[in-house]
Amino acid sequence: MIFSRIIKIFLIALLIFIASSTVAQEKDNHSTFINTIYKTTLAKGATYELLRELCEKYPKRLSGSDGAAGAIEWTKKLMQEYEFDRVFLQDVMVPHWERGEKEVATIHYGDGKIDLSVLALGRSIATPSNGISAEVVEVKSHDEVTELGRENIEGKIVFYNRPFSQEFVNTFRGYVATVNQRSSGPSQAARFGAVAVVIRSVSTGDDDHPHTGTLSYANDAPQIPAAALGVHSAEKLSTLLQKNPKLELFLKFNCQNLPDAQSYNVVGEIKGSTNPDKIIMVGGHLDAWDTGHGAHDDGAGIMHSISALRTMQVLGYKPKNTLRVVMFINEENGLRGGKKYAELAVQNKENHIIAIESDAGGFTPRAFGIKGADSSLTKLQSWLTYFPDNTISALKKGYGGADINPLNKADGTPTVGFIPDSQRYFDVHHSPADVFATVNRRELELGTASLAAFIYLVDQFGL
Ligand SMILES: [Zn+2]
Repeated sequence: MIFSRIIKIFLIALLIFIASSTVAQEKDNHSTFINTIYKTTLAKGATYELLRELCEKYPKRLSGSDGAAGAIEWTKKLMQEYEFDRVFLQDVMVPHWERGEKEVATIHYGDGKIDLSVLALGRSIATPSNGISAEVVEVKSHDEVTELGRENIEGKIVFYNRPFSQEFVNTFRGYVATVNQRSSGPSQAARFGAVAVVIRSVSTGDDDHPHTGTLSYANDAPQIPAAALGVHSAEKLSTLLQKNPKLELFLKFNCQNLPDAQSYNVVGEIKGSTNPDKIIMVGGHLDAWDTGHGAHDDGAGIMHSISALRTMQVLGYKPKNTLRVVMFINEENGLRGGKKYAELAVQNKENHIIAIESDAGGFTPRAFGIKGADSSLTKLQSWLTYFPDNTISALKKGYGGADINPLNKADGTPTVGFIPDSQRYFDVHHSPADVFATVNRRELELGTASLAAFIYLVDQFGL
């Protein structure tokens, strides 16, 4: 009796030992594979050279432009050369805005004049062909425009000079707190009779690069021309206004909104071996402002995404689920690519396990942020130990991304945003400084490795 009980206890102990060592072994296998992803990417990753090629060949990729069309063809061909299982385009009609000739912003005072560093805002209408000249009213906010009222605004150029909110560690929070002077500031000023708007660039930098970005004209206000000044130029204008409130600013730009143009999202897939109908999607946006190279915004994101799949392919990994990379068009001035993707996903009854976006630059990986169920968040957090030190240090609630948000809204797909270090992103974002030379090879490749590792974990464990 006692003897059989001892045997029973021994057998149970043995089973527990075998089960726990199997779990440990599996964890070891996953860790080994993830380490291999990081080592291979750091030593032999192609992300950096691909981004260099994109930036050299197609630096200006605004929707509807030749640069965008060239980049679409180039990324499609690249994935075909990699022999991804399926590469295809999705038709998207996109807004087509062109900047035209170099913009002019000149301060006139007494006999003097000073040229300012300026870029028209995306979607802005042109000034009259011989320019526009008017007195300037400096404000910090929409509310200040309302308080000043029509008697102080009518016939003037409104100058939004609110500095970037620098108090947040995460600069995206500062961006969100400041960006409305660009997006809705022009219409707010127009409601009170302003003839044009200039804004202080939404930038963390201490320099004079103007940072463009799209504005959004409201239906209840006339459309007026609007442009961004470099931070130093904005400060110069403010200083001169204090000395001479009557000075005049001259603006001239001939940008135009053309009819919508035919364009495309570019999609590539590696088919799943067990669940080919279940999709793990990763992407970024292929369009970029026409000022620098769009190296961080968002050349880095599309090269991360293609390279993450390429890494899995090079390592001979056979995914259970279909891995899909999407290069969205028109994130910057319309979001038509993201909307079209969601529409087609619903129409084709596609089943996305998750959609991941890299659209925050090519800097050192810090975190992933998920918009999804609490249970998915708990699962994600259990994966933290798989990531090497000094890479992903948080898996937390988050936003996802602009291009994948429509999919989340349409069918509830959980979305995940890749979160790199944000300290330098808004120094270059939407400006002529967003060039390849500001990208660090190792930081960029670490992003690819982190995305590949994350995709691997979703493929192995689901959400
Ligand atoms: Zn972007």
